[in-house]
Order: sequence, then structure tokens, then C-alpha cells
Amino acid sequence: MRDPRYDILFEPVRIGPVTAKNRFYQVPQCNGMGYRDPTAHATMRGIKAEGGWGVVCTEQAEIHHTSEITPFIEQRIWDDQDIPALRRTVDAIHAHGALAGIELAYNGMNGSNLYTREVPMGPGHLPVATFTHDPYQARAMDKRDIANLRRWHKAAALRAKRAGFDIVYVYAAHGLGTLHHFLSRRFNQRSDEYGGSLENRTRLIRELIEDTREVVGDQCGVVFRMSLDELMGPVGLHRDEAHDLIGLIGDLPDLWDVTLAGWENDSTTSRFEQEGYQEPFVTGIKKLTAKPVVGVGRFTSPDLMVRLVRQGVLDMIGAARPSIADPFLPRKVEEGRIEDIRECIGCNICVSGDFTMSPIRCTQNPTMGEEWRRGWHPEKIAPKGSDDKVLVIGAGPAGLEAALALGQRGYEVMLAEAGRELGGRVSLESRLPGLSAWNRVRDYRVFRLKQMANVQICLDSPLSADDVMGFGFEHVAVATGAHWRRDGVARWATLPVPVAAGAEVLTPDDLMQGQRPQGRQVLLYDDDHYYMGGVLAELLAKEGYEVTLATPAADVSNWTHATLEQARIQKRLLQLGVRLRPHRGLLGIGPEGAQLACVFTGDEELLPCTATVLVTAKLPHDALYQGLLAQQAHWAEAGLRSVTLIGDANAPAPIAAAVYAGHKYARGLDGPEDTGDTVPFLREVAQLVPWTAAPPA
Ligand code: ADP
Ligand code: SF4
Repeated sequence: MRDPRYDILFEPVRIGPVTAKNRFYQVPQCNGMGYRDPTAHATMRGIKAEGGWGVVCTEQAEIHHTSEITPFIEQRIWDDQDIPALRRTVDAIHAHGALAGIELAYNGMNGSNLYTREVPMGPGHLPVATFTHDPYQARAMDKRDIANLRRWHKAAALRAKRAGFDIVYVYAAHGLGTLHHFLSRRFNQRSDEYGGSLENRTRLIRELIEDTREVVGDQCGVVFRMSLDELMGPVGLHRDEAHDLIGLIGDLPDLWDVTLAGWENDSTTSRFEQEGYQEPFVTGIKKLTAKPVVGVGRFTSPDLMVRLVRQGVLDMIGAARPSIADPFLPRKVEEGRIEDIRECIGCNICVSGDFTMSPIRCTQNPTMGEEWRRGWHPEKIAPKGSDDKVLVIGAGPAGLEAALALGQRGYEVMLAEAGRELGGRVSLESRLPGLSAWNRVRDYRVFRLKQMANVQICLDSPLSADDVMGFGFEHVAVATGAHWRRDGVARWATLPVPVAAGAEVLTPDDLMQGQRPQGRQVLLYDDDHYYMGGVLAELLAKEGYEVTLATPAADVSNWTHATLEQARIQKRLLQLGVRLRPHRGLLGIGPEGAQLACVFTGDEELLPCTATVLVTAKLPHDALYQGLLAQQAHWAEAGLRSVTLIGDANAPAPIAAAVYAGHKYARGLDGPEDTGDTVPFLREVAQLVPWTAAPPA
């Protein structure tokens, strides 16, 4: 039963002509599926509605073909052809009593229109603001363009209404669209009535809100989404100006959805910000408007949510990532199952789906993005297919998730772990600077496993192939992890680099197990490019080592562009005095230091250091698996039917991939064998239009 303390979260909230059944609001959230995977998208949103969110929104929907952001995959509402796919999403959301919202977006100078080849437009003549530095400029919009945009936005709003949406957005947040660009002085240098004073820079926003209300206000709530601060000081939009804007048009929208800009400041990772980090920016907004306010902050704690509502900071609890990690978060609060909430760890692997144009994935929730194509429900799983017993070896993220999902299916499971602690790499990595929230991957699973009578957990149990052969389990999942290489092999050097005898070389495993360099001058060589190199440089610099980070890439922790962290990581390292040597590959390690080469010219340099930390590739721990394969002829007599390698022991990858591998293994047990001969999931293939025109002459 629900704790009465949380009753306030289940009060209805009026948004113009519609009413949300509670205060849980899934704000617009990109997911890398968009127009390409409409049914997958619709199913994912429907699951969130089933999980109890009172409002479920789409990601941004491009309103017009002059405003698309190829290669990114978002929604499109260019014309009536897009309505059926959107209606499918609306229906999936409505099926569970939630309101469906759509974030109409005109990207303007935020996209180069690489697909449509139309000329982008914005407040002025400026290069398009893509992080890929596309060599295109947007042209300044004239009065006719502005009139066109108003007409296009109205048309899109009408289509949204026809698709059945209850909430229609006017979007000016994150620095990502024309309305934000008109608002922010750093983009808007116009001298007409759309530039200059705040009132003028707000004019287009006011017009679009009024237009939208005019065409859909009878049926739909009109939500205005804006950023309160670009965190750039006076050059960008800042809090005082944002508050003035709310003062100007306070009651015009039916609800205010407030964020920070850019996206990296809105969806900040747990490495850099705690839960509720936007509170200082949102506090006070409600005094400026009579309309309800929704805001975000990676909220997973119902106590914090209640406090924010009671203190009059927010009316609705906005969430993207917490709704990804646990689509059933509201239901769990409602049913008094707080401990069952699968809390977001703030890693932004979900965001990387958008940046890599691949369907969303989540470290905590392996079913995210797989709801339709694999038929995976986050809370339901098929019962076991036999009475076979399963041995899971290794209690890292892969082993923990496999044991959990197998336990949920009802199998008798033994989870054997060599060490004295559960969690594998998660336990080790969550002790590194800024990564403590990652231990939620372990804690969520261990908490649930300990309640399962059919799962036995054995610590201090390093198993050999002979041990396993003697146990009598029908199925064995080998989730024994991986270790970091000590020979420099990764992307730049695919063959081992020479290391002089006596040179001190450490790996991330050494550092995580407490070992430290003997001397003070450390070269950290990062040819991994995700978080580990940057985190260890931070660790060593904070402990007083003189750290140089060399990498073949142009910047540190290069892949973290996809998790919105790169700029913060590089800033932190520079502030800690870490010296950077980009574009450098490692040739060898001698007694005096490391020999580096420019990745372009090959010019060599000796970088003096007393120790080298190699953050390069990993090697799987697959010896146990190989040992079992070697005894395959005796499996039948041992009662063994299958042995499967999962997680890092199969192929090292981010934690999310290990969790996914564990889950996939558990779902597939006793199911049809995946031989690779057929595509093992559903997909939508573009429907051919009738052949109406002759091919070009
Ligand atoms: P993954 O990310 O694939 O889950 P991890 O490296 O996090 O991999 O976890 C692997 C776990 O397996 C570690 O906790 C490790 O102690 C354990 N392990 C490795 N070899 C054995 C073994 N032979 N018997 C039992 N546990 C093992
Ligand atoms: Fe949270 Fe990470 Fe999942 Fe995103 S991928 S929802 S940040 S746990």
C-alpha cells in the first residue's frame, strides 16, 4: 500500500483543458528511434504510461522539412503522412490513462538539413550550430520567413491534435531550436521588432504560443518549454533574464516546462551533479506564474519529490532518465514498493543512443528499447521453460542480471562469485571519483536476489571447469569478466608495444585494487577513449601525482561526447593541472619514460615519467569457458546441456552491454536457439510507395 506521505504525488494537475492523473511527468526525451522505428517508439511510450506516468511525451518532433537534424533520428510531423505513426504512440499512451504530449520543434540553425537540402534559417546569418561543424550557414529569416514559420507551426499543431495528442509544446529550450536562438542575445543580433529588447526577443515565442492556443487550445494543453540558464554568464541566456521573460508571458502557456541549456547542463551525469541539481534554478518560478511548473533533476527519491511539491518549487515531477531506468517508478511509489525502484545511475548511456542514432539503451534497464522488437516488458518475464537448474559464474553486472532474471522466471539458480564482494567491475569502478551512483547497478539486483528463495549466492567461490563438471547443473552461464591489458594493445597499436624490464606499468585494475605508482611523474595513456582514462587521471592528480594524459584522440575521453560529459571532463582535468598530449600514440616504454609518436607525422618524443598507466584494451577471462568446452564430450554424463559465455567474458564493453547480455541469456533459456540464420527481433522496413514516376532520363 502507498505511504500516505506520497499521496500528494498522486493528486491530479490541470494543464489547460486536460488533466493529468498525477504529478509524474515524462518530459520529452530523445531515444534514437523516432521516425525510423515508429512501433518500437510507440510501445516504449506505452510501457511508461502503463508504469503510471501521468503525462508521457514524445521527443522533439520536427515540424517542417526545412528543419531536420539528420543524422539524428527524432520524430517528424512534416505532413499528414507522419500522423499514423504518431497516432500509434498516442494510442499506446492513452491505453493506460496517461496524457500524450508532443514537443513541436523548429530546429532552424541547429541542423544543416542534410536530408532535405533546404537552406536552414535562423535569427541571423550564422553557421549551423551542430557539434559536427557541418560547413553550412543558416540565413537570416525575414518577415515572410517568420510568417511562414508561424503558419507551419500552426499546421503542425493541428496535425498533432488530429493525431490525438493532449499536450502540444512550444519549444525554446536547450539552445536547440529557433525560438531559443531568437531569445538568446548571442544568436539574435536583429534590429527589427524581433531583436534587441527582451520583449522583442520574446515576440516570436509569444506569437507561437498564441497561435498554438488558437488552433488546439480547445482540446490540448499548450506547454512552453524553455531553458532558465545557459550557464555561460552574461553572454548567454541567464536566470535573471529568464525570470523576466516569465514575468512577461507568465500566464500565456498552460504549463511551464523549465530546464537548463544546453542538453549537457540539463541531462548532467551523476559524475558531475547530484539528484535535484536544478532546484536552485527552478526555485521562485512559481511566484512568477499562476500556471503549473514541471522541472527535472534525475529524480528517483519520492521524498525529494514530495518536498519540492510541498515547498512550492514544482507542481509536476519531470523525468526522462528516471523513467528510462524504471518505467514503473510511479506505480512502485503508488504500491508502496519504493525499494523495487530501479534507480537511474546517471551514466547517460541512454543519451548515447541518440548520439549514435541507435535505439535507446539503458545500463539499469536492459528492456529499454527492446519492448517491441524483442517483446521485453520491464516488469514481466515468461515463467521458466523447464525444471533445469542454472549455475551463473561471476557476479558482475552480467552475472547479477542473469541470476535476477532467471530467478524471476522461477529457475533454481546458483550464483557463484570468486571474490568476497558482489558486483564485479561495478563495485570497483563505483569507488572511483564521481562514480559512486553506479553501485546502484549492483545494489538493486542484490537486494532483489536476496529475497529469492530459488537463488543461492555463493561468495569466495572461484570455480574451475572440473568443479563445474561435478556440480550437476543443466545450464552454465560464464560471466567471469575481463581485465585491462598491460601491453599497450588497443586501437592505435594493435600489436604489443615494447616495455623495458623494470619500467613501472600499471593498469586500471591495479589502481582500482589500491596499487599506486612509486614515483610521482605519471603518464596515463588512454587509447580506450571512454570514461576510465579521464577518471584515473583525475584520481591520480587529486592524490598529488604529476599526471600527463596522452591519447591518439584529439581530446580526452573522446567517446564521452556521446554521454554529454566530454567538455566537463576536459575542464576538470585542466583545472587539476593534468597536462594533455593529444594526437599521440604509444611506441614503447623505456627506463626514462614513454616514447610517443604524433599520430599524423610520426614525429617521436620522449615523455619522461616514472610510471605509465595503460588504459587500453581488455582481455576476456574465458579460460573457464574454454576449459568447459574442452570437456564437451563429457557434458552429457555430467548432465550439462549448455554453457554460455556472457558479458565482458565474451567481449568487453560498457556495463550496459553486460547487463543486457545477462538479461538476454535469461530470457532466451529454453527458448528457440538463435542460430543467426534469421533476424531475431522485429523491425519495420520502409513501405514502398506505388511506382508513380518514371526513373530520371
Ligand atoms: P561483467 O561486466 O561481464 O559482469 P565483471 O568483470 O564485472 O564482468 O564480473 C566478473 C566477475 O566474475 C568478477 O566479480 C569475478 O570475481 C568473477 N569471476 C571471475 N572468474 C571466476 C571464477 N572462475 N569463478 C567464480 N567467479 C569468477
Ligand atoms: Fe540512467 Fe544510465 Fe539508464 Fe540513462 S542509461 S536512464 S543515465 S541508468
